[in-house]
Amino acid sequence: MKIGDLEIFPTKIICLGRNYAEHAKEMNSQVPPEPIFFGKTINCLIKNKEPIIYPRILYENPEINRVDHEVELAFIIKKKCKNINPEEYEDFILGYTIFLDITARKMQKKDRGINLPWYRSKNFDTFGPIGPQIIEECENPHNLKIELKVNGEVKQSSNTKFMIFKIPEIIAYISKYLTLDPGDIIATGTPSGVGPILPGDVLEASIDKIGTLTNKVILEDSD
Ligand code: MG
Repeated sequence: MKIGDLEIFPTKIICLGRNYAEHAKEMNSQVPPEPIFFGKTINCLIKNKEPIIYPRILYENPEINRVDHEVELAFIIKKKCKNINPEEYEDFILGYTIFLDITARKMQKKDRGINLPWYRSKNFDTFGPIGPQIIEECENPHNLKIELKVNGEVKQSSNTKFMIFKIPEIIAYISKYLTLDPGDIIATGTPSGVGPILPGDVLEASIDKIGTLTNKVILEDSD
């Protein structure tokens, strides 16, 4: 897919869970002793200005009718990466972008409550907007203002300096378990302030130096 001027061919999306202390707190969860990661499928991906489709299966069922925004800094893998040292992390990163880890929150909580994986709640089509561009140069990815607005109102506002596990550690850690391939997308977790979105809402996700990713929410099969 083309993000800004760069074409990437991701094989997978890996997301960090609970990587900001304030977010772990708002989810009534502990700060993890080592990184927690999970996968999203490629069919989650949409670009800047493309719509997030709110699935009817969620919208029409009060037990699972909550979908949340999570704004995250993401980085793109440049070359095959397995068992790397944290110090050499820069050699393996193509650049940085904005990712929205859209989540079916009630479904996630329900599944977690009975020890099921949260895979389905994270993997509806369009639940992974990305863009609007990939920046190849970033002096310090750990000091960027990160913000999410819904209909012009600020809902999440933080700085990437508050990440618990920093990028060198994240990439080294994940590469101990699986091979990262060129184009793969790693999302570094969301700060606090996550909340529900509804059909008709406009999401604007911004990170310093990268820009603003804008996506409207629409109901599945609506005109
Ligand atoms: Mg997330």
